[in-house]
Amino acid sequence: MNRPLLFLDVDGPLNPYAAQPERRPDGYVTLRVPLGDGTPGDDGDLSSRRRTLRVWLNPGHGPALLRLGYELCWATTWMAEANRWIAPTLGLPELPFVDFGDALFRERPDGVHWKTGPLVDYAGGRPFAWVDDEQSDPDHAYVTTHHEGPALLHHVNPRLGLRQIDFRTLTDFTLGLNGPEGPEPA
Ligand SMILES: [Mg+2]
Repeated sequence: MNRPLLFLDVDGPLNPYAAQPERRPDGYVTLRVPLGDGTPGDDGDLSSRRRTLRVWLNPGHGPALLRLGYELCWATTWMAEANRWIAPTLGLPELPFVDFGDALFRERPDGVHWKTGPLVDYAGGRPFAWVDDEQSDPDHAYVTTHHEGPALLHHVNPRLGLRQIDFRTLTDFTLGLNGPEGPEPA
């Protein structure tokens, strides 16, 4: 069976960075990642190399993601660094990642997120779900126009991170593809 892709953003869905700063959400652990070496937030300033980035992660999320039946893929500014810093705490194996190259952080005049084009290209027509805290209407329009297969752009609140209801939505999407009635005719 050709499994759908699940594009995973880190900051927002897995790291609820916008939650109250002094109150780590239940079930999460704290990671302190040295800035520099290409981690997000590294501004190239020498002084930043002595600072750390606080990341909250829920070790239950890895197994829950693996159970969903998707092929997991990082879709994050962490890119390859997600395998080094994020995957072990979540209990995820090394995953492929989308290399955003020159598109990284590059704002588009049409309001489409800089990740959206590269993700659609990476999917190459395969069904995919994308969890992120930054999609907006232009991204839905872009995907509808440029992606032939089914797609789910699932927004996650960065104050809350992934919750049970999000996992249910992701499961429902796969059931729509592979359920008893099979995929919708093209
Ligand atoms: Mg994010």
